[in-house]
Amino acid sequence: MTTPRHAHHVHAVQRVALAQPRGIDQIVAGVSTSDGDGVKLTRVLHQTLQQRLDPYLMLDAFGSDNPGDYIGGFPSHPHRGFETVTYMISGRMRHRDSEGHEGLLSNGGVQWMTAGRGLIHSELPEQEEGLMEGFQLWLNLPARDKLRDPWYRDIQSEEIPEFTTPAGVHVRLIAGESHGIKGAMQREHTEPLYLDITMPPGTEFSQPLPDAHNALLYVFRESLYIGSSEIPTKRMAILGNGAGTDGVVLHAPASNHSPARALLIAGKPLHEPIAQYGPFVMNTREQVMQAVQDFQNGKLG
Ligand code: FE
Repeated sequence: MTTPRHAHHVHAVQRVALAQPRGIDQIVAGVSTSDGDGVKLTRVLHQTLQQRLDPYLMLDAFGSDNPGDYIGGFPSHPHRGFETVTYMISGRMRHRDSEGHEGLLSNGGVQWMTAGRGLIHSELPEQEEGLMEGFQLWLNLPARDKLRDPWYRDIQSEEIPEFTTPAGVHVRLIAGESHGIKGAMQREHTEPLYLDITMPPGTEFSQPLPDAHNALLYVFRESLYIGSSEIPTKRMAILGNGAGTDGVVLHAPASNHSPARALLIAGKPLHEPIAQYGPFVMNTREQVMQAVQDFQNGKLG
């Protein structure tokens, strides 16, 4: 007799039918860069897309089996004014911060950190060889929460709710809700949806999305279609926000040789000014200068 790996597998998966699905606005390739101590990564969502994808500020994809591309990690650095969500597909990363929090992020786990008024932390690989693959997403905080107390949660892989549709599409729910099942994290104000979706060739998956929420799809295995538009591997589709649209329908082409896999990320825009200088994201230039000064005066940790 087999037991489901996760208790949440037994939840009923609700059917979803959409009447007016979204199309694609734009397909983005991202920019190859490095950050921290020489970590090679692709900045998929960069500064010029922050208004368009409000409340999201950044999405980095990293993936390499060459230790030289990741071994330096991200030594001590500050953050203020937003949240970071790190999702590890493969590999191990140790996190330590100035509030005394420490955690190990490994295969399939998520670290959700609210920087709030600020902290100093390091994110360092705990492996000297093998594949390191994952994503870091930056989610903005509303003006009133930018100086709140820092907070964080390590979400181990087995704590992330999952379900499989009758067609065989497998979904991991990091945040928000899908098919009647709640994800590991819920947030007011920005209402983030963060799904990791694996789709065998020839399958379809529908996800409701409020039309005012901004949404992106990042494909990282094989390719997917929205309508008649293909999103190739390692590309981000920015979804349209047509008035009256009710969600998105994804198709994995039958010609794929293996399951496609993608992140579907959406959220409610804040419509507030964004002022960024490196790891500080506030609403005005003065607030950013204050953050730099506080950091220099040792007030961030
Ligand atoms: Fe960081």
